Parts: sequence; structure tokens; C-alpha cells
Amino acid sequence: MYDPKSLKAEEFISHEEILETLDYAERNKDNVELIDQIIEKARSLKGLTHREASVLLACDIPEKIKELYDLAEQIKKDFYGNRIVMFAPLYLSNYCVNGCTYCPYHLKNKHIARKKLTQEEVRKEVIALQDMGHKRLAIEAGEDPVNNPIEYILECIDTIYSIKHKNGEIRRVNVNIAATTVENYRKLKDAGIGTYILFQETYHKESYEELHPTGPKHDYAYHTEAMDRAMDGGIDDVGLGVLFGLERYKYEFAGLLMHAEHLEAAKGVGPHTISVPRIKAADDIDPSAFANGIDDEIFAKLCALIRVSVPYTGMIISTRESQAVREKVLRLGVSQVSGGSRTSVGGYQEEERPTDTEQFDVSDQRSLDEVVRWLMDMGYIPSFCTACYREGRTGDRFMKLLKSGQIHNCCQPNALMTLKEYLMDYASEETHQVGQALIEAELDRIPKEKVRLICEDHLKKIEEGIRDFR
Ligand code: SAM
Repeated sequence: MYDPKSLKAEEFISHEEILETLDYAERNKDNVELIDQIIEKARSLKGLTHREASVLLACDIPEKIKELYDLAEQIKKDFYGNRIVMFAPLYLSNYCVNGCTYCPYHLKNKHIARKKLTQEEVRKEVIALQDMGHKRLAIEAGEDPVNNPIEYILECIDTIYSIKHKNGEIRRVNVNIAATTVENYRKLKDAGIGTYILFQETYHKESYEELHPTGPKHDYAYHTEAMDRAMDGGIDDVGLGVLFGLERYKYEFAGLLMHAEHLEAAKGVGPHTISVPRIKAADDIDPSAFANGIDDEIFAKLCALIRVSVPYTGMIISTRESQAVREKVLRLGVSQVSGGSRTSVGGYQEEERPTDTEQFDVSDQRSLDEVVRWLMDMGYIPSFCTACYREGRTGDRFMKLLKSGQIHNCCQPNALMTLKEYLMDYASEETHQVGQALIEAELDRIPKEKVRLICEDHLKKIEEGIRDFR
């Protein structure tokens, strides 16, 4: 039985409800009157239900798709302006006891080098990331209660926050580790993490069990109910995601939105972010072995639909995607991108990108400086801001600000100030010049004069060497 408020995975992600949704969407994909109503509802920024959004996903009338893309662009501008939040992943350990068939860290892979960072190595990695200019990390680890217990993860977080090097400082650590207990989520919360991210991989229970044949991750309900436990443990911001390519994308899309609806219904707050990874080649993984790969067009449509369906949820794209794909989906709704990423354990300390412990092939291999300049050349403001979470603007408080539009008075100045810090401390000469011109032009767009004057004053102080205004 479908019940978005239920705390049982099989009831809030009801298989029957998804099948009925897909059937409903298929029957209505040419129903222009209904499609127009759905687009109108999305235009009012109220978001869409999984049923409504699935109708738009099934629809392939070119004019309606164009309307959808235009609306996604508009909503992106209204909610997020032209700011793009920057981050990098940090791989702590690739020891893993699970059997995920799409991931090279699976237990049976005996030829991939296994590595776990010592605290000294964490230090070196973090300094390398700080020296690039990063302020926000997403830590990643395989699931291994012996090699990577929660105490190890907590120790790493502690180390990361403690490292000050020149003007470097990691101000927000997001965490992407396997589903765990309420008690462990509470420990992560107490360690000061930002968002807890966990990809569902697939919402299709039967496929999920086949794709995760062994290890603790095999348990579909435990994995799917993880966000509820994270919130029960006090974590306000959670990040969802599907690994596109494993199952049929229409099924996954309906499941993803149902998950968001469930969190809103049961916990009062929807997901803080949604990630959109696609399966990539890796050590012993060949993506063509998975039958449900999606092309760039469908990928873009999914991004646009996520944007209009959950306008208040940030959308993240990693370096799994090429520059060209990233460029396209940035316009349609993506609000966070990684840059200069290495997906190997210990990769940031190496001159050349090492591939021996890599989790997946990186498509966008540009440096952070190149990514920052590229964003600015397209008119975006790369933001290294972490102020919201550090000032307690998380969960429903963040959502209220976002929904009321008040967030612009915080985000625009913070984006400009953290960009200025980046330009002063890390940027190449060319990037510095482009950035300086952008900041001057963007200052005029801060709505309140008082806020603009304060921002101008802080920008001057950043030039004089003061850092971290909030
Ligand atoms: N071990 C944790 C877990 O089970 O959730 C951490 C996740 S892992 C380091 C991060 C994510 O990478 C996975 O959730 C999965 O979606 C993704 N991933 C794994 N193999 C991949 C591949 N071959 N291509 C692209 N993404 C992959």
C-alpha cells in the first residue's frame, strides 16, 4: 500500500504506485490540456508530484519540452541566481565489504589497490585541496566496519576541520558513506558535518538486490530508510541521488520524487540536494554491461524536470560528466559542481591523476582554476560559500528562506566575498582579472542597498587580508 508518510521503504516507495504512475504517464503523454496544467503548476514554484512530473517525462511533444526547459531555466534563475557552489570529493578509503556490481571497490575485486588514508595523509590531501582553493568537501569511503568504522570517519572529519594552512580552511564537510544507525548519524551531526549524502542507486527493489548481491548494502529497506534515520539522528540536510544506468530511468525518476515527497511528509523537510550521477567506466566495470544507460538528451530532460519538480532542492553534478554536458545542465538547474576532482584514495597529493585506486573515470579533468574561469566566462558566479550551514540556516530554516526569496540577500554577497577570497589567494592572473570584473558587475545586483554597502566594505577588507566574513 502506498503511503508517503509511512516509515517503511516498501510503502513510501511503493512498487505498485510507481507502476501505476508510469502507466498514468504513458496514457497522458499526449494530453496537451493536462500537460499545460502541470506546466502552469510548476510555473507557480509549488513543485510537482511524482505523477505530474512523470507525465512531463513521458511527453515528447517538442514545443512542450521547450516550455519545460525554458521554465527550468527561469526557476533556476529565480531560486539560485547565477551562483554555482563549488566542492571536491575526498576519498578516504576504498576498503569495502559490499558486492555492488557497478562499483570497482566491490569485495571480490582483488586486483584494485586497497588504500586507506592515515591522518597524516588526510592532512596532506586536505592541504592540497586547500591550496587549490576548496572550502567544501564531500568525503567518500567504502563500507567496511573493520577498516573504516565510524570512529575512523569521525577522526578524519576532526582532522579535516583542524587544518589551517596559509589562508586555507575547509569550512564544510559533507559525508557520503554507507547507510548507518541513528546513533552513528548523531555522531556525524556532532562532528559538524554539512549534508549527509547517500545515493539510492536504484529504487527498484528486485534490481537493487541483484545489483547488491552481498554485504550489508544488500538490505534494500535499511538503505532506503537511511535518510529517515539520519534525520532522527539530528542531521537536517540530506542529499538524495540515483545512479542512472542501473534501472529504467522513468522508474527511478518516479522513485526519486516519491522519496523527496516522503521526507517532506514524514519529516517536514525535503532533501537539501539531489545528485545525478551516471554510471561510468572503472577498473573492472564496463558501463555498457548495464542495459539502462541514458543519453545526454534524456539526462538533460531529467535535470530540467528535477529543477521544476523540487525547486527548493539544490542539484549536484560531478566530474563524471564532460564539460559539454555540465554546461548544458548548469543552465537547466544544476546549482553545485565539483572541480579539479580526483576519485582515487590519496590522489590529490600526486602530480599526475592516479588511476590505480580510482572509483570511476573522471570526464572533466580540468583544474579548479579552469573550472572557475569557465563558469565566470559563462556569466556564473562560482561560490565557495558555506555560511548557511555554519550560521544554522539548515533544514526547514534554509527551506523557508529559500521559498520566501530572502536567501538572495545572503547568498549574493557571500558568493562574491568567497569568490574574492579565491581570487586573492589561489587564482591565476587571468582568472583573477575575469573574476574582478565579474564581482564589480554583480555587486550592483544585490537588491538591498545596505547589504550592498556592507559587501563592498568586506570586499575591501578581503583585499587587505581579512578572511571569512559571514
Ligand atoms: N560506500 C558508500 C555507499 O555505499 O553509499 C559511499 C558511496 S561511493 C564512494 C559514492 C557513489 O559512487 C556510490 O553511491 C555510487 O552511486 C557511485 N558509483 C559507484 N560506482 C560507480 C561507477 N562505476 N560510476 C559512477 N558512479 C559510481
